[in-house]
Amino acid sequence: MSGDRGSTCSGASAAIWVEVQAERERAHRKYGDTSMEAQPPTAWLRLAILMEEVGEVAKVYNNARHRAHAMGWDEADMFSGQAEAELRAELVQVAAMAGAWADALTSAAPGPYVAVRT
Ligand SMILES: [Mg+2]
Repeated sequence: MSGDRGSTCSGASAAIWVEVQAERERAHRKYGDTSMEAQPPTAWLRLAILMEEVGEVAKVYNNARHRAHAMGWDEADMFSGQAEAELRAELVQVAAMAGAWADALTSAAPGPYVAVRT
């Protein structure tokens, strides 16, 4: 195996980070003072929020698997259409919450949520 992993992230683009940031802001508008953004940097609630999103990824995955089984589909096809969109949306939410937490730990600069909160 070569050490060249230059193409590993070839699908990544700035667009995904724009989407993740928009999700951070959407979630803060929705949850306000109980949002990830509003918690102290090391609050246990941050872990609960992140794990809720991770659990929702698992739920989408499990629901797709059950649906594939009920329909007699091959598991390889279980993420076609809507299920894939749901999985992607939940993964973006995980990234948004993880990013918000990491940002709170490492950045002294006010996050974009400040603009939302004012
Ligand atoms: Mg979610």
